[in-house]
Amino acid sequence: MRKFEHKEAKTFEEASELIKVSKSGTSIAGGTDLVGLMKSAILEKTPDVVVDLKTIGAKETTVNEDGSIVLGAMNTLSEISDDESVPTGLRKAANSVATPIIRNAATIGGNICQDVRCWYYRYPHNQGGRLDCARKDGDLCYAVLGDNRYHSIFGGMKTARTKCSNECPAGTDISGYMEKIRQGDWDGAAKIILRANPMPMLTSRVCPHTCQTKCNQSNHGDSVNIHAVERTLGDYILKNKSTYFPAPSSESGKSVGIVGSGPAGLAAAFYLRKMGHAVTIFEKMPEAGGVLMYGIPEYRLPKALMREYNSAIEGMGVVFKFNTTVGEDISFEEVEETFDTVFIDTGAWKQPILGIDGENLTQFGLNFLVEVKQWMTSKIDEEVLVCGGGNVAMDVALTAKRLGAKKVTLVCLEQREQMPASKEEVDRALEEGVIILNGLGLNKVRYEGDKVLGLETKKCLHVFDEKGRFSPVYDEADVSFIETPSIILATGQRVDLDFLGDHFKDEIQSVRGLIEVGEHNDTRHAGVYAGGDVATGPSLAIQAVRAGGNAARNMTKYMGMPMVLEIEKEAFLTFDPEGVKLVKASQLVDTPVEKRCLDVEDSSSLTEMEAAVEASRCMNCGCYSSNASDMANMLLALDVTVETTVRTLSGVEFFSDKLRPEYKLERGELVKAIHIPSRDGWKSDYAKFRLRKAIDFALVAVASDIKVVDGTIEDIRLVFGGVAPVPFRASAVEEVLKGQVPSKELALKASEVAVENVMVMRDNGYKVESLRTMVRDFVETLI
Ligand SMILES: Cc1cc2nc3c(=O)[nH]c(=O)nc-3n(C[C@H](O)[C@H](O)[C@H](O)COP(=O)(O)OP(=O)(O)OC[C@H]3O[C@@H](n4cnc5c(N)ncnc54)[C@H](O)[C@@H]3O)c2cc1C
Ligand code: SF4
Ligand code: SF4
Repeated sequence: MRKFEHKEAKTFEEASELIKVSKSGTSIAGGTDLVGLMKSAILEKTPDVVVDLKTIGAKETTVNEDGSIVLGAMNTLSEISDDESVPTGLRKAANSVATPIIRNAATIGGNICQDVRCWYYRYPHNQGGRLDCARKDGDLCYAVLGDNRYHSIFGGMKTARTKCSNECPAGTDISGYMEKIRQGDWDGAAKIILRANPMPMLTSRVCPHTCQTKCNQSNHGDSVNIHAVERTLGDYILKNKSTYFPAPSSESGKSVGIVGSGPAGLAAAFYLRKMGHAVTIFEKMPEAGGVLMYGIPEYRLPKALMREYNSAIEGMGVVFKFNTTVGEDISFEEVEETFDTVFIDTGAWKQPILGIDGENLTQFGLNFLVEVKQWMTSKIDEEVLVCGGGNVAMDVALTAKRLGAKKVTLVCLEQREQMPASKEEVDRALEEGVIILNGLGLNKVRYEGDKVLGLETKKCLHVFDEKGRFSPVYDEADVSFIETPSIILATGQRVDLDFLGDHFKDEIQSVRGLIEVGEHNDTRHAGVYAGGDVATGPSLAIQAVRAGGNAARNMTKYMGMPMVLEIEKEAFLTFDPEGVKLVKASQLVDTPVEKRCLDVEDSSSLTEMEAAVEASRCMNCGCYSSNASDMANMLLALDVTVETTVRTLSGVEFFSDKLRPEYKLERGELVKAIHIPSRDGWKSDYAKFRLRKAIDFALVAVASDIKVVDGTIEDIRLVFGGVAPVPFRASAVEEVLKGQVPSKELALKASEVAVENVMVMRDNGYKVESLRTMVRDFVETLI
């Protein structure tokens, strides 16, 4: 066991300070948890300081003149159980916690500050635990796939952002929209995805879906095919574009200019227009979309979809000024003076200079893709050599092949597994006969006059240095020659800031020649924002989308308006117990190789039904444990308030708001007292079901506080314990009982309503039956 300092505090304030200055900064309550923590590092971190609160001695119970009661946080459970001034239900709850020895030592403050408890949370790895429990800073709840006898029947709660969302550059709430799709609520799903990404119909088709690499389902079978579900949801949004791209109901009176209409500019336009600002986009090309429109080939991203998206944005009232190059047709100064704020999204479209002999006789990959229509009517060489290992190179190679080149060879520095292109794209290129030569750098182009003879390459010994930085090393003596009449360079693009003019360029560019932006996508010039490739260098469409959204929110704030965030009320998480057992993911269907062409998309979307089946595989990762604190259940029923060293919290805030105490209490904030209101004519009670005496946690508990007047239930507060990650306030049952005279029929009805909307796992159906029975018994005792 690691060493720690043991300090005895004399006051809550002193204890609070000691905790604040400790390095680990985690407060946990309860002796039994503490021993477990230090013995086997359940929480991985051993504390550097342990502060003993018992020496504070705050154990007095005060009964006020109005009948309300104040319990000191250091009151032991046995003291509460013996105290006749305490409501009956709370005395019963205190008495039902564990053994007399524990009740004599455990305090009420400690009891209610304990983390949610579940069987597996207390099952450390080194004692045979089998999972990275979401409560142990892991990502998975064993209840979903494994033994779930003791777990929640009302769903789970988020402990942190899911692994998949963490890996999505836009931070899309993936599990959130998957849940809505499972419920058949496509509109709800659309609203969730649109909060992070206004163009899922486009990103789903081109995104390298890093989210899937970390999906918890991959421990069990295929990862959830997130981008395929996103694609169907995106198609649904586009089908109903008038619903999701409405013009704002009122204008803000503010104006925004956007330079460039790539994904960053279009995403910014969506959010800015939603907030009611007048948005004008200057675009040098005849149509909007940037690389998505002009670079990425039609067979991967149909232009019709891009056009439909653009028309949806236009439908919101965004004004496009096409064929307008800022820096030529209008100066940047003029744009800056005309609008309240400006967003720059000009991307990275310039050819980088490699400095090899004969470079001027090669073609630039991005230009080749932009001009592909012209190539379709002219003739491509029989043989083409493409240089580069990223997705742009793959697009160039496949486009050349589909234009009719008989032999397409691709050379790149990286070995196959290091290639930056996504694996799917490399596989597709190989499938269609592209020859890939790995580990070769460019030496020079051999030529005669204007005629290209071929490319001289040199062996690349390694691409990255020991720190993983791009730093290629060559064997200059190991030179080879590839004969070819045509070379296309797809080895990167550069950012061009000349359109800014000297004044702005000097002010806002970075040492790397990009636009320097801060975390709000703001530049060094107040009111001018930037994002996408122009600020990062060549990157990903979804990165650009995120930058556009981030800029829009901060530009709105800059213009003195509140940031509007549509956050839904948090509900318990649910999953489909049968769906998560499906091992195979639903896959998009690809067109057979021989039928692939340049102007028809290579794959088709999943149907809504297929997407829903795939969404059923998502485990909605979170914690599905159940809160077993008897005291918490009863205190919520009694409508207490909790006084801390900082503030007073309602029972709902304290017990039901967030899962972990540290989410609702600040560092060093300690519970000082519990205030129980006096409520004339109310009677509380507590009943608990456990499997064996030795298992002290409530598997199901019913805490009640009820007012019966002349045989009629006038009011009631009912809380279920052991069935959800937090005490579960049974509002629906309360409504059934209020104003009614207790009877057998009422008891039956209440028991049915109590188990409505339960989410039964494989082995915890017995909890549902127990709850039903306990609720019926409770009402029958009132007859
Ligand atoms: C061939 C290719 C394939 C790619 N494949 C993928 C992929 O599969 N997946 C993926 O995620 N990413 C891919 N990318 C990268 C992705 O497309 C970019 O990261 C993304 O488009 C960047 O978005 P952006 O908003 O920064 O700008 P861009 O899309 O570059 O748009 C910038 C816009 O600004 C306009 N503009 C520039 N200068 C001016 C000016 N002075 N005045 C007015 N308008 C101007 C341009 O015409 C253009 O419309 C690919 C890139 C290329 C080139
Ligand atoms: S945008 Fe990309 S990374 Fe994000 S959820 Fe969609 S496919 Fe995954
Ligand atoms: S199972 Fe669902 S929530 Fe969990 S990581 Fe995979 S997609 Fe995300």
